[in-house]
Amino acid sequence: MLTQAERMKGLASAIFTQVDELRKAEAAAGKDVITLSIGSPDMAPAPHIVDALITASADLRNYGYTLSKGTADFLQAVASWYKINYGVLLDPRTEVHSLMGSQDGLAHLGLCLVNPGDVVLVPDPGYPIFSAGPLVAGAELYRMPLKPENSYLPDLEAIDESVLKRAKLMIINYPNNPLAAVAPREFFVKVVEMAHRYKFLVCHDFAYSELVFDGYRPDSFLSIPGAKEIGIEMHSLSKTYNMAGCRAAFVVGNAEAVSLLGRLKSNFDYGIFYPVQQAAIAALTGPQDCARETAAIYQRRRDIIVDGFNLLGWKVEKPLASMYVWAPVPTPQRSFEFIADLIKRAGVAVVPGIAFGEHGEGFVRIALVQPEDRLSEAVDRIRKCIG
Ligand SMILES: *Cc1c(COP(=O)(O)O)cnc(C)c1O
Repeated sequence: MLTQAERMKGLASAIFTQVDELRKAEAAAGKDVITLSIGSPDMAPAPHIVDALITASADLRNYGYTLSKGTADFLQAVASWYKINYGVLLDPRTEVHSLMGSQDGLAHLGLCLVNPGDVVLVPDPGYPIFSAGPLVAGAELYRMPLKPENSYLPDLEAIDESVLKRAKLMIINYPNNPLAAVAPREFFVKVVEMAHRYKFLVCHDFAYSELVFDGYRPDSFLSIPGAKEIGIEMHSLSKTYNMAGCRAAFVVGNAEAVSLLGRLKSNFDYGIFYPVQQAAIAALTGPQDCARETAAIYQRRRDIIVDGFNLLGWKVEKPLASMYVWAPVPTPQRSFEFIADLIKRAGVAVVPGIAFGEHGEGFVRIALVQPEDRLSEAVDRIRKCIG
């Protein structure tokens, strides 16, 4: 009876579901599985953030609808955070808008920009919503391969001019999920030039800006001269402040694009729960040692996995950012076969690269979302499995 709409066909979560089913089957059989598959932080927000949430939610006046845009204090907190952290000046009234998670922004951006036949340029491998959002909006996707030999940056010169002329939007993401790669400033400069020439919008997903290691600091895309004329950037409190369930994020940059997305959202939702906005303000304007401590914890976890794997002869590079390690499949198997074996034989669950796109084949993504002892245990178990 029920026939799904055409646009649903772009939404295939099949591989993630399969990974989870394998994991659950082992767990149901009584096996202890170390779950390094999901990208959900395992740490808690800092006490001052939780306090702000508790205080605001104890006030019974705070349970009404908010506005989709965000409170004036929230918008100002975002603008100040950008100025302090990235030297980017934003007008909180026109260049900042709240999001119910970056997922909200990425899911809806295509609907504001795309007509049938328009192209959206997305990374492959890439975070699934980068493709799913534009597909639902009816976009034709152009998948930009991110290859190790190009330092996981898209080869901009390889994109055909006919594609660029039809492009309405390019989505990029550094520090990257799932690749854990970072981008040099020169790459952003080239993207800005290209977007000006072909008149498309660039959306830079900056979710991992604070989960950085070994003293590395990324650039905001908006810090490139001319970027604000063609670009927006999204940042989320999910990873930086361990607030994933709160659904608090924001989009900043080009006022026209921010206002378009805002107009769509004002029809779709009524904004973030007021106490969550208060918690977000506490996070953005309070002491930042909590974010640095979170990054330091991920850095130690990264070292356990990368050093551990390299000792096993599994050659893996040390990423400078994010909460993932991207590793080549160490056996002659396809990525899915390998991870299925790893779950069954080692009791360690990771995601096959193919889940992030065709060019993810040959790799797996390991999420550093377990404490150090569990990660050491995972390395031990893998030693017995592939060693
Ligand atoms: C986790 C993540 C986000 C954050 O999403 P929210 O909806 O804000 O929780 C955004 N982009 C990428 C690439 C991510 O991995």
